[in-house]
Amino acid sequence: MERGDLFVVSAPSGAGKSTLCSMVMEKLDGLVFSVSHTTRPPRPGEEHGKDYFFVSEEQFQKLVAEDAFLEWARVHGHFYGTLRQHVMDTLSKGLDIILDIDVQGAKQVKEKMPWAVTIFILPPSWHALEERLKKRGSEDREKIKLRLKNALKELEEVHSYHYTVVNDVLEDAYEQFKAIIVAERSKTGRVLASKIDMTKLRPDPDSWLHS
Ligand code: ADP
Ligand code: 5GP
Repeated sequence: MERGDLFVVSAPSGAGKSTLCSMVMEKLDGLVFSVSHTTRPPRPGEEHGKDYFFVSEEQFQKLVAEDAFLEWARVHGHFYGTLRQHVMDTLSKGLDIILDIDVQGAKQVKEKMPWAVTIFILPPSWHALEERLKKRGSEDREKIKLRLKNALKELEEVHSYHYTVVNDVLEDAYEQFKAIIVAERSKTGRVLASKIDMTKLRPDPDSWLHS
């Protein structure tokens, strides 16, 4: 079976990555969201196993020592990582997978899987980014400041991504994000490998071609 595609999605915190990923996950079949492990405490409403696997630093370091992560990084003062086995199992079933990971993790994935498709989400302006972080209300002032400080560095990485989506009007950004995934799924090699048997495109003996 043809392996699935791996989509890496990165953005400065507050740009709308999680929102767009969950919208596209609801709409497209054959797409799996990679649930990361993190040492960050859960936000209200976040579910263990759905948004993240919330683990202690000790549990996280044990997984690092076991080389269980495809990639991992320290982001905004917490550890985050993607389990290798889950990604490999998903891809080998022919399913696509989305990794919502930071720019450091994206670099590690690109080194190991140069065929990964990378997408960067940009906010329309610095002001919008700040307002979204404040409005989300999941971090206090100091933590928002740290995320904004890190955003400056993260934004420099946009050039190394294949695609960029400016998340201004949410519906438009969602349509563009979805279109990228659909376009990748429409690449000739992939369609010929999984969607159509080319022998079906040979004329039958009773075809008008022979009349
Ligand atoms: P990220 O995952 O990149 O940190 P989120 O998806 O949590 O960002 O979005 C940050 C906040 O901005 C959330 O409160 C979300 O509802 C809001 N948001 C996302 N996209 C838009 C948009 N296009 N316009 C206005 N608000 C948005
Ligand atoms: P948040 O705390 O807002 O959920 O995520 C903070 C940052 O960590 C975001 O940039 C998000 O993409 C990133 N992140 C989430 N999971 C992973 C992961 O498994 N690996 C890496 N490297 N970054 C991650």
